[in-house]
Amino acid sequence: MFERELEDLKKKKLFRMLVSRGSAQAAVISIGGKEYVNFSSNDYLGFANRPEIVNSLKAATERYGFGSGASRLLAGGTDLHRELEREIAEFKTTEASLAFNSGYAANTGIIPALASSGDVIFSDELNHASLIDGCRLSRAKTVVFRHKDVQHLEALIREESAKRRFVVTDSVFSMDGDVAPIGEIHEICQRYYALLYVDDAHGTGVLGGGRGTLSHFNITPGPQTIQMGTFSKALGSFGAFTASSAVINEWLINSARSFIFSTALPACVISASLAAVDLLKRDTKPLKTLWSNREFLTSSLKSLGYDTMGSETPIVPVQVGDITETLRLAEFLWRKGIYAPAIRPPAVRSPRIRLTVSADHTEAQIGMLIDLMQRFRR
Ligand SMILES: *Cc1c(COP(=O)(O)O)cnc(C)c1O
Repeated sequence: MFERELEDLKKKKLFRMLVSRGSAQAAVISIGGKEYVNFSSNDYLGFANRPEIVNSLKAATERYGFGSGASRLLAGGTDLHRELEREIAEFKTTEASLAFNSGYAANTGIIPALASSGDVIFSDELNHASLIDGCRLSRAKTVVFRHKDVQHLEALIREESAKRRFVVTDSVFSMDGDVAPIGEIHEICQRYYALLYVDDAHGTGVLGGGRGTLSHFNITPGPQTIQMGTFSKALGSFGAFTASSAVINEWLINSARSFIFSTALPACVISASLAAVDLLKRDTKPLKTLWSNREFLTSSLKSLGYDTMGSETPIVPVQVGDITETLRLAEFLWRKGIYAPAIRPPAVRSPRIRLTVSADHTEAQIGMLIDLMQRFRR
């Protein structure tokens, strides 16, 4: 039966295969012994290979060893875990913070911990799969609002009289690179006493001078706001965090199943995240370079007539037509030494090439991509 299902995927050109690197995650990567300029990494600031972070990981491994042996509630965590959480709470100006093992684990653990049957969750139609799964696991009624449409959101909220209402949204949409109108959504949440849950996986380290999307919108997080972010993207590390009120934090420790029933992240990983936050505060140059690289890429693509689908961030989708045409472009770039994969349904509704630009890309590397995009167009 599954063989038939796989054949069906192949026929529809939706069959997926793993791509494995033989090198570090960087602007140039090696795949199958060949080098490619990499436009698919979320390591926006080039932190994944920074010696400050790698050395911090090494030092913590010396002291704490590697495996953490148990969940946080059974002493699997260390002083470093608490230190990282204090650091994040300060960075985000919230009362508290909690580390999670991944962004996926955070979203699928937190949403069901907060919402249950009888509650209503309002969810942007383009939210990340982990948010969708979190909503499903919660057993709350999930009402989907049109992408970034605050009027639609407000109309739907008015119709629902549940005691507990939640608005759940990506801050930066991971496949489109546009930014949710968090200012207006925050205001609606205030007005209707709804709790706002923002997934800032792609805003962390990128927007608001690195402090994230709430900072970008000049919002001071109150007790009604829960921010979730990841260490796995711009921070070049691994894992995720929340930044919230102390009450919500304690509630998550006591009820988020992905937190309670999973082994703590190793101390060395936590140490790397600490070093990454420190680096983000001290070295502001990569963030400036990231945004100027992003500007160079998007303005060039636009002048070639490409549709970048409303991208506002270093995530730059390029729409070129149906699945066949999109795969043709990905294949063309691959043959010329550029890794920029096609993203297809069900990950997205309309197929696209998803480019992510980083601070580590040189002008020449971006120029090479632009030249090839021009040749493809011709
Ligand atoms: C990547 C991503 C996640 C998952 O984070 P991981 O740490 O990779 O598990 C969650 N939400 C969004 C919007 C993401 O882009």
